Amino acid sequence: MTFRERYDFEALVNEAERLVIEELGRQLELPDHAAICKCQECVVDMAAFALNAVKPLYRVTLLGRIYTRSMDQTEYEVSVGEAVKTAIAKISRNPSHD
Ligand SMILES: [Zn+2]
Repeated sequence: MTFRERYDFEALVNEAERLVIEELGRQLELPDHAAICKCQECVVDMAAFALNAVKPLYRVTLLGRIYTRSMDQTEYEVSVGEAVKTAIAKISRNPSHD
């Protein structure tokens, strides 16, 4: 049995992903962003760009509550908001399609 098989790493969750996707959805609905492309490619590119800019926020599902509560939530949420804003600006200016 390999190390990988011996333990359940499915219990690891990157909380950043959930927070970035929620924030991306919120910001894309703002009236300022009405004209920008929201196709599958652009939106996923925006999410990837923002996720690469924020610190990962892994937690273990079983103990998750304890870990996330000890974090400075506000500071982290601000960094997510800024990363998403930058991602929208960057991708909408240079989409990977024509
Ligand atoms: Zn697009």
